[in-house]
Amino acid sequence: MAVRKVAVMGNPILREKAAPVPVNEIATPKIQTLIQDMIETMFEYDGRGLAAPQVHESLRIVVLVWDFDAGKKPHLMCLINPVLKPVSKEKSEFWEGCLSVPGLRGLVARPNKVSLEALNQKGEKVSMVVDGFAATVLQHECDHLDGVLYVDKLKDPTQFAFNKEFDRFLSTDENDDGGEGGE
Ligand code: ZN
Repeated sequence: MAVRKVAVMGNPILREKAAPVPVNEIATPKIQTLIQDMIETMFEYDGRGLAAPQVHESLRIVVLVWDFDAGKKPHLMCLINPVLKPVSKEKSEFWEGCLSVPGLRGLVARPNKVSLEALNQKGEKVSMVVDGFAATVLQHECDHLDGVLYVDKLKDPTQFAFNKEFDRFLSTDENDDGGEGGE
């Protein structure tokens, strides 16, 4: 296992559409090592989610710290070839951060409820409907697989700030959730 280098905004790999992982390759050392390295890298950089293109692998894999289920312990989640669909027209706004856009965060509105279909690290089907901040985190991570960054979706450039200034001027108890960067 190894911590990998995180690609930051401007690196073309973050703008590519990532390739699906062939199901019969999920169990291979190449993919399993990549997943382990992504988890290690996410923790090293203090993140709560990471997509494979962020570590220079243009494949449809996401890892997340899943701490959204009330009363349940946080656990790691690995999603391979995830497909998200909005199931609500309503949008929610959250402040997002990204390990590939270090030191900044911005306010983004996204559908507040999505359905997810994916495979996990063992190649088993995962299917669920999530809402609230969990829906935002999933959409943020899956956007990386299509070459999209949250900064593309800022609706108001005045609601985009360095973390230090966010903490000084914009933070409230409600919006201080940390985003992917979690700094
Ligand atoms: Zn990100």
